[in-house]
Amino acid sequence: MTEAVKRVYRFGKDAQGSNVTEGSAAMKAVLGGKGANLAEMANIGLPVPPGFTITCQTCMEYANAGNVWPEGALDEIASYRADLEQRMGKRIGDADDPLLVSVRSGAPLSMPGMMDTVLNLGLNDRSIQGLIAQTGNPRFAWDSYRRFIQMFSNVVIGLDGDLFENAIIAMKQLRGAASDTDLTAEDLAELVGEFKRIFSENASPERYPALVADGQVTFPQDPELQLRLAVEAVFGSWNNPRATLYRQKNKIADDLGTAVNVQCMVFGNKGNTSATGVAFTRNPADGTKEFYGDYLVNAQGEDVVAGIRNTSPISELKHIEGLQEAGTELEEVFVLLENHFRDMMDIEFTIEQGRLWMLQTRAGKRTAASALKVAIDMQREGLITKEEAVCRVEPDQLDQLLHPQFDRSATYDVIARGLNASPGAAVGKVVFSAADAVAAAERGEKTVLVRWETTPDDLAGMIAAEGILTSHGGKTSHAAVIARGMGAPCVCGAEALKIDAEAKQARIAGTDIVLREGDVISLDGTTGIVVLGAVDLVEPEITGDLDTILEWADEFRTLGVRANADNPEDAELSRSFGAEGIGLDRTEHMFLGERKQIIQSFILNDDPESRQSAVDALYEAQTGDFYGMFKAMDGLPVIVRLLDPPLHEFLESPRALEVDITRREAAGADARSLAADRELLAKIDSFVEANPMLGLRGCRLGIVYPILPVMQVRAIATAAARLRKEGLNPHPEIMIPLVSTVAELEKLRGVAEATIAEVCEAEGVELSIPIGTMIELPRAAVTADQIAAKADFFSFGTNDLTQTTFGFSRDDVEGEFIPQYLAEKLLPYNPFATIDPGVAKLVRMGVELGREGNPDLVVGVCGEHGGDPDSIRTFHGIGLDYVSCSPYRVPVARLAAAQAALREPRA
Ligand code: PEP
Ligand code: MG
Repeated sequence: MTEAVKRVYRFGKDAQGSNVTEGSAAMKAVLGGKGANLAEMANIGLPVPPGFTITCQTCMEYANAGNVWPEGALDEIASYRADLEQRMGKRIGDADDPLLVSVRSGAPLSMPGMMDTVLNLGLNDRSIQGLIAQTGNPRFAWDSYRRFIQMFSNVVIGLDGDLFENAIIAMKQLRGAASDTDLTAEDLAELVGEFKRIFSENASPERYPALVADGQVTFPQDPELQLRLAVEAVFGSWNNPRATLYRQKNKIADDLGTAVNVQCMVFGNKGNTSATGVAFTRNPADGTKEFYGDYLVNAQGEDVVAGIRNTSPISELKHIEGLQEAGTELEEVFVLLENHFRDMMDIEFTIEQGRLWMLQTRAGKRTAASALKVAIDMQREGLITKEEAVCRVEPDQLDQLLHPQFDRSATYDVIARGLNASPGAAVGKVVFSAADAVAAAERGEKTVLVRWETTPDDLAGMIAAEGILTSHGGKTSHAAVIARGMGAPCVCGAEALKIDAEAKQARIAGTDIVLREGDVISLDGTTGIVVLGAVDLVEPEITGDLDTILEWADEFRTLGVRANADNPEDAELSRSFGAEGIGLDRTEHMFLGERKQIIQSFILNDDPESRQSAVDALYEAQTGDFYGMFKAMDGLPVIVRLLDPPLHEFLESPRALEVDITRREAAGADARSLAADRELLAKIDSFVEANPMLGLRGCRLGIVYPILPVMQVRAIATAAARLRKEGLNPHPEIMIPLVSTVAELEKLRGVAEATIAEVCEAEGVELSIPIGTMIELPRAAVTADQIAAKADFFSFGTNDLTQTTFGFSRDDVEGEFIPQYLAEKLLPYNPFATIDPGVAKLVRMGVELGREGNPDLVVGVCGEHGGDPDSIRTFHGIGLDYVSCSPYRVPVARLAAAQAALREPRA
């Protein structure tokens, strides 16, 4: 017989005040982050309202069985519910002294605001009387009941929240009340009746047969039914569209599930000695060591996060009449939590009639700047080690610091100011809805999403926009938290902005400025300012905390980091970011602009003389290119790849030419010029590849047109010789692309070696230029031992290797069916962004066979995966010598490589 699985864990104290918690912070996979940390806080003696947690595994079992409860689970929940009632000496739904609970989601990895919560559960027509009797506050009790019906109807049953909001508005109009707080207990009692009627009219009897009594749907009065339906709704919210999108974007596995925390309610809305708030133990925007956050007096928790009322800074709390004691205790708790968790923590708390309760803690989400400062400060404070500090910063997050900023010398007029909620600068066209931001992004337009305040439904628009601007909400509002998590610039709470989203315009109070959809604005999330028009942006530099963490990272990493660059400016930039060489110089990028004419003349002229003169011109130009590159990277390796793309990429579009000929013909153009163009069209057509990625490209070009590699190698060697004579130390290497057989490499290696020898002779210098190959075809990977015998180095071109392993065309696949594959989970992620295990297996085979064939072989990777932290971890595990990535990814790769080494030290 298998042992019964434990599905429920309790936390908090028993009736005698002893801690009876069953879980701990180590159990996040089972209890979710919230549940595990509630247990941990209870274990270290902090005031946690008692409750129990239903495990994440139960959620997955329930979902996988088609929303059917695993056997015994409901009984186990019932017994923990009874245990909680016994611990509290109160019963849920009791007519005299009812216990009310909250039902909250909590996944193993934080997904803020993505899943559901129900508060005040346990209220019904009987227990409301008990709540009135116990609190002596009928207004509070009726307000709690109406909030519960509203939340339950919306979250659990899926009814439109506006149905209830409209009823509140109607009631306020009827009573001439300016705000919700002006409604009396009687008004609220009447609203409760109205809400129940709305519920009965709108809830579906087919979907919720358990709610049907006497042939009519009624708001559930049975607390057990309320609880079951609420837990089922939280389980269901694991798979709601916004949670699914969030997981996809943050690479969180779909099979983790969410736990459900059922916890005794405490109330921050019981008058002026009650309050609720969210806070961080340090500043999550810039890392300053200070208590940071917001609170509201006489409010429920959701009010703070929703940004509905403007909050006050947490530093003021301990000075507020009636809240001094709890405010002081809270600051002690901050210190205790930081020392215990050894991290910057994010906290939710409630003060009920002067008494402090901790509702949640977790490692606080922070900007890159804050992550760096907190990690360095904590290492210096002796709280964490250097290794831990390096692992505390998300490599992908560094991207935020590598974003452009406002040019300091730019002049501009600030039209509005708000809170500097998430750093970085953005320039874009104003849009007033998430849907418009998404549509604009699809058209390739940059936008700034302007909202009164964002809600979880805005997530897709927030991802699509360059920056986010809100007129309301504090630094812990939805917009601020999500923007920081995404690394998107955000200014929030810019109150001068009077937004009319329906009319798609915003007035700036105190001015005659009106922003309309499509107007360009700039915002700086580092300082919190909004500017009309486009401000010039400047590139970032590696200084201060970023430099410190990267230096520490360099102490631990074993993978080298090089850059993909093809001009001296990018080479210098990558060097300033810490690149240890150029891993890929794509020489075709040097054939753009006016050079295009020259290569076109080479391709389109068959007579040897014209070809030779085109090649001579290219040689001159390329020698200058390489001279600049090698000089910028003096002393460091520069891998120059010989020409790779199919030649038609350098030619005009044949279809455009064809249209032009037809038009001119119709207009009676001269026959001779038409004939010449037709000949040109035929020639261009002869170069068009039906599938360009599988055609005459890579090393095949050099074999068919040997004059090209000879020209390029001559230019490389000549540039190196010149620099050498100038006393510099160039290190060129030559890379042959798209090799599939050793014979191809052998042939081109021969051509290159002979050319280098000629240049050495002519220039009177000794040059030792390593010659290697890209491994980007499966055949090359599986015959890597043979190929390595003729190669000094390998560089895995994982873009082409992914394309040829899957048979996906890298140019069209991402717009075509990959999104559907991801949505249907036929692929866990885009294999062109993060290395696929199948492709990684070919890389591993290539490395192992390659080192067998040539023990001195140097191996790297230069596909886009070289800058992706997850892929870098895989490459570290395979034992590559280096990764090469775009200049802006170099710092990311340095940090990711260090974390890979610290997490999986090489043998
Ligand atoms: C590759 O294929 O991974 C590569 C780096 O080459 P390119 O992207 O230029 O084809
Ligand atoms: Mg390639």
